[in-house]
Amino acid sequence: MSALFARHALLPEGWRRDVHIEWNIDGDLLAVTPDAAQPHGVPAADLVMPGMVNLHSHAFQRALGGLTETAGEGPDSFWTWRDLMYRFARSITPEHIEAIAAQLFSECLRHGYTSVCEFHYVQRDQQGAMYARPAETAERVVAASKSAGIGITMLPVLYSYAGFGEQPLKPEQNRFRTDAADILRIIESLEPLRDAQTEVGVAPHSLRAASIGQVREVLGSLPDKRPVHIHIAEQQAEVQQSLAQTGARPVRYLMDNIEVNARWCLVHATHLDDGEVAALAASGAVAGLCPTTEANLGDGLFPLEPFLKAGGRFGIGSDSHISQSAVEELRWLEYGQRLLHQRRNVAASSTQRNVGDFLWQGALQGGALAAGRRVGSLSAGLRADLLVLDGEHPNLDGIGASDVLGSFVFCGNDNLVKDVLVGGRWVVRDGAHVAQGAITQRYKQVLTELRKLRS
Ligand code: ZN
Repeated sequence: MSALFARHALLPEGWRRDVHIEWNIDGDLLAVTPDAAQPHGVPAADLVMPGMVNLHSHAFQRALGGLTETAGEGPDSFWTWRDLMYRFARSITPEHIEAIAAQLFSECLRHGYTSVCEFHYVQRDQQGAMYARPAETAERVVAASKSAGIGITMLPVLYSYAGFGEQPLKPEQNRFRTDAADILRIIESLEPLRDAQTEVGVAPHSLRAASIGQVREVLGSLPDKRPVHIHIAEQQAEVQQSLAQTGARPVRYLMDNIEVNARWCLVHATHLDDGEVAALAASGAVAGLCPTTEANLGDGLFPLEPFLKAGGRFGIGSDSHISQSAVEELRWLEYGQRLLHQRRNVAASSTQRNVGDFLWQGALQGGALAAGRRVGSLSAGLRADLLVLDGEHPNLDGIGASDVLGSFVFCGNDNLVKDVLVGGRWVVRDGAHVAQGAITQRYKQVLTELRKLRS
C-alpha cells in the first residue's frame, strides 16, 4: 500500500484540509480521509487534486500541430484543414502512430490529464486494406498509453460514408473505411486489453459518416455500459446538410432515432437550437467540448449558459491537439462565453460560484462518464489518479484553497502541475515525464521520416 498526505485536497465536496490518501498495489484508492493527522513516514504535498479526463483525442493529429496556420488562396475553413489532415494521414504507419501518441500522452500528463478517450479512425493500411491484426493501429495507441502511463478509453470509429445520404467515401478516406462488421471485429480484438487502465467503447464518426441503421447494429452487439462517442453539429454546413437530407438538425435527428443516454458523449454539439439544448441536457449525455480546436477550426461557440442552466453535463477534450493543456481548454471555454455575452464568470451556479472549481469539477464528472472508467474524483474505489500542484509557485504560494483553481485555470502560462500519479504510479515528477527522453527522441525521428515522405 502507498499513501500521500495532502495539506489541501480537492474532494467531491470541495477543498478539504489534511487529507490522507491511500491506494493499493493495483492502483485503486483504498481510503481518502480528510482532517487526518499526518501518519509517520507518509510524504506530504500542499495542493492535490484529481487528474483531468481528456474526453476527445485524435492522437496522430498531434504531429500536424502548428503546420496548418498559413492562409490559402481562398477562405480557409474546417474543410480546407481537413484536406491537409487527410494528406498527412495517408502516409503514417502503425509505428508512427504509436510514437506520436506516446509523445502526445506524455505532454497531456504533464499538463494535468490522467485519462484520454481516443477517437481512433486510421484503421487500414496505406492501400486501404485491413491489417493482418484488425486492431493493429488501435493496439499501437493503447501501447503508447501504457508506455506514457495514461489511462485510455479506446473508441474505434465507424466510418462508412463521405456525407449525409450514404455518399461513397473518397479515395483519401480509404484508410478510415469501416462498416459495422469491421468495427465489431476490431472491438473483439481489443477485448483482451481491457483492464483498470484500459476501456473499449465505440465511436460512430458522425451522422455524415455512419447511418442510423449501422449505429443500431453496432450498439446491439455491444455491452450496455460501454461508452459511445460521436462528432455532431460541429459546423453550420453539417447542420444545413442534415436539414436538407433528413429534415432535422443533427442532434435532433440523432435523438429522434436512437436512445441517447448517459453512455453517450456528443462531441462539439456546437450548433444547437433551444429544443436541442434542452433535449441534450435532459438525456444525461455528455457534451464533449474542445474549445481550442473549435477555435482553431473556426467552428463556433457552444451554448454553454443555457445548457448548464438546463442541468447539462460537459467535459473537455484536446481533439486536434493544437493544445495539450487542460487549463487552456477550460480557460477558453469560459473566455468564449465572456466574449459572447460581454459578462464575466459565466460557468458557475448558485451552489458553486467559483468558476475554476465549477469548471474543473464539472469537466471531471462529465469526463469520467465519457471515459466509462473508475475515475473523476479522489474517492475510495476509484483509480489513484491525482495531480500535485506547485504550491511554491508565486501564483499559488500562501493563497487560500478557494482561490487555487481560479489561479490555476486563469492566471499566467507557467505549468503549475508538478507531480502526476496515474493508477498508483508516479509518471510525472517535478514537472518532467519519467520517460520523456526516450519518448521525445522517437517522436523527433518519426517527424523527420514523415517530412521526407511529404517533400
Ligand atoms: Zn474530433
